[in-house]
Amino acid sequence: MADTIQQQLDAIEQDALAQVEQAGDAALLEAVRVRFLGKKGELTAILRGFGALSADERPAAGKRVNATKQRVHDAIARREASVAEAVRAARLSGHQLDVTLPSFGSPAGHIHPLAAMTREICDTLGALGFSIADGPEIEDDYHNFEALNIPPEHPARDMQDTFFIEDGLLLRTHTSPVQIRVMQEVQPPLMIIAPGAVYRIDDDNTHSPMFHQVEGLMVDEGINFAHLKYVLTTFLRETFGPDSPVRFRPSYFPFTEPSAEVDIGCVICGGKGRSETGNCRVCKGTGWLEILGAGMVDPAVFEHVGYDSERYSGFAFGVGVERIAMLKYGISDIRLFFANDQRFLEQF
Ligand SMILES: [Zn+2]
Repeated sequence: MADTIQQQLDAIEQDALAQVEQAGDAALLEAVRVRFLGKKGELTAILRGFGALSADERPAAGKRVNATKQRVHDAIARREASVAEAVRAARLSGHQLDVTLPSFGSPAGHIHPLAAMTREICDTLGALGFSIADGPEIEDDYHNFEALNIPPEHPARDMQDTFFIEDGLLLRTHTSPVQIRVMQEVQPPLMIIAPGAVYRIDDDNTHSPMFHQVEGLMVDEGINFAHLKYVLTTFLRETFGPDSPVRFRPSYFPFTEPSAEVDIGCVICGGKGRSETGNCRVCKGTGWLEILGAGMVDPAVFEHVGYDSERYSGFAFGVGVERIAMLKYGISDIRLFFANDQRFLEQF
């Protein structure tokens, strides 16, 4: 009886090894494995023939079945390894690298639209004679508020939602503290612009907690509002076109007196205030867009930096870089500048 089982085993093993050898890929090998070693496989089925064996014969027969299973198992494993190696070799030879071929080159990056806008603003003002000054983004209360005529408890502090750090330090809410730092170091005459990042607690589609300004300051003997008007009108017409309407409205800032807000004719509706569907949404029907704040430097600011306000006068202005870029390029959501979406950035 045991001899019959051995004959069956030999036949199955021969068959299995032949099929393993023929299987050319992983799927075929798996089919062979299931056929011979699976739960319903041929080598498992042979165990059912054990019922005819005597109790003495069973252990030896069981050992033979297991030894056969192990050999078939090993053969499959070896074949799997060689099939995988063949697949890998085929893939490599299909992707042979010809290092003598010309390369495609690296795609060139380009300047971020806000950096480009900042440069354009600085170039325009630079041509009028302003030079660039720099200051820290982490400021103290004195330079950000007090020296700019915003003492503690001044209601103007509520106009700017400030990120406070500690020990009287804060993230600057405007580029105006650079004015103070420059005037503490340099005597008039001076003409400076200070581009840079500023921070306020504000986040919606027209406000970002971090945004950019360009500050301007001109101080000398005999500087008056006409100089301010000339510089800003020239700057805005360079930026938005030579025929752009520009108007000055009275306003209030703690560090300038008198103060003005400056508007340009709406770039969306051409100043008409109306679109085909009704009131222009961008200028809300007024035909004007507020573009920057400016004014004559308050004598109280000069006193903080030790300038003689009887002798010197000056003007200052602050431009929002995002604001100008949004209007110039028709962008309705400020957050697009900071999302780093290439589909947006590549348009510039
Ligand atoms: Zn409009």
